Amino acid sequence: MNVSDSERAASTLCKNGFKLAPSTDSADVVIINTCSVREKAERKALRRVEEIARSRGAEAPLIGLMGCVAQLEGEALFDYAPSVGFVAGTGATERIPQLIRKAVAGKTFDLGERRSPFEGDLEPAFRHSARVAFVPIIEGCNKFCTYCIVPYSRGRERSRAATEILREVRSLLAQGFKEIHLIGQNVNSYRPKYDGGPEKFPGATPFSRLLRAVASTGMPRIKFTTSFPRDFHADIVKAIDENENLCNWVHLPVQSGSDRVLRAMRRGYKVVDFIRHVEAIKGARRRISLTSDIIVGFPGETREEFEDTRRLVERCGFEGLYIFKYSARRGTPAAKLADTVEESEKTDRFQSLEKLQASAQQKIYTDFLGAEVLVLAEGLSARSADDLTGHTTCNKVVNFRGGRDMVGKIVRVRVDELKSHSLYGEALGVL
Ligand code: SAH
Ligand code: SF4
Repeated sequence: MNVSDSERAASTLCKNGFKLAPSTDSADVVIINTCSVREKAERKALRRVEEIARSRGAEAPLIGLMGCVAQLEGEALFDYAPSVGFVAGTGATERIPQLIRKAVAGKTFDLGERRSPFEGDLEPAFRHSARVAFVPIIEGCNKFCTYCIVPYSRGRERSRAATEILREVRSLLAQGFKEIHLIGQNVNSYRPKYDGGPEKFPGATPFSRLLRAVASTGMPRIKFTTSFPRDFHADIVKAIDENENLCNWVHLPVQSGSDRVLRAMRRGYKVVDFIRHVEAIKGARRRISLTSDIIVGFPGETREEFEDTRRLVERCGFEGLYIFKYSARRGTPAAKLADTVEESEKTDRFQSLEKLQASAQQKIYTDFLGAEVLVLAEGLSARSADDLTGHTTCNKVVNFRGGRDMVGKIVRVRVDELKSHSLYGEALGVL
């Protein structure tokens, strides 16, 4: 979501006469996009502001903050980080050009709402990749999980009109993009005010209708993230089964394997509900890669409850897992609970789960050894000049030996080596 917002900010600025500088060393204006989901990210952003100001000395650029920290802290940031010249909240991305012009005369901020959600085309040059594009379909969140800051920093859910999404996908296809990611805090909570556009497509929910409609555009690869367990419908799996170009990957964050903790988190589902979704996903015709998120050390989480999480992770066979240590966020209900799990205990639980996942993941990865996978070659590998890099349809990173002329194409790759979070292989040919 933040990468997508940065693309939007860069594109808007360039349409308004600004130019992208090659680095922060020469830029007249530096904008830092911030995340407040955990305290560490927030502190890092503020440190970066001061670092840039210090390194440029008397030539210090105008520094602006955008994103969630900007939205939540607003004007107070001028005290926390004195080098900040302007603050653009999560709704102000499109107004950054005006904000910069004002900030030249003195510190200023804009925490107003987005005027036209998601509208306006992105200049392809400002996308993070020339082959893979992010397409926002829903913004904000109504769920209010007790630990999470997102509903406060991003506001209520707003779904983008399907006709608008379909228009963008068709235009991306015409520009040569091979893969899109439909993105949002919870994509499967998609519920536009006007449900027009995909009328002729069946579906048990607006999201699965949208998936089928997007699939019909012929975009070669369609991925979507993140899915919210309470709103997960088995029809999503059916849509994937019906359409080869709906990729075989679902990211479904479970957060905990304990019903008591899930209730305290106000996630709105129980472990059995989650397992039902896992079974639907595993029952698909194509193998679907399932990945998830876990928070360890939520206030009051006992050792036994953490063991329940370990058991759930063992049972689900996640092909990737993001583990987070609970971080209290000011203003959320959980921040009022005593943060009972010691930092050292959080670290222990984090490491124990990481180890468990690493060994489970290696077993899953073994199935890929010797197998042929389809990889969208996104570019040259950062590690070796002879290798290319890309992702499988199930979103695994694959580095492989192949020719530079393969960049941008979908390549058949034989996997001959397994790394801890990626696969390595050799190109067999272009699809
Ligand atoms: N909407 C998605 C998640 C978005 S936030 C969902 O509900 O599934 C991305 C991840 O950050 C979450 O899944 C959670 O694991 C983590 N996270 C959010 N708030 C956190 C906090 N206060 N401390 C630690 N991790 C947190
Ligand atoms: Fe945060 Fe919960 Fe919303 Fe996800 S669903 S963004 S965890 S409040």
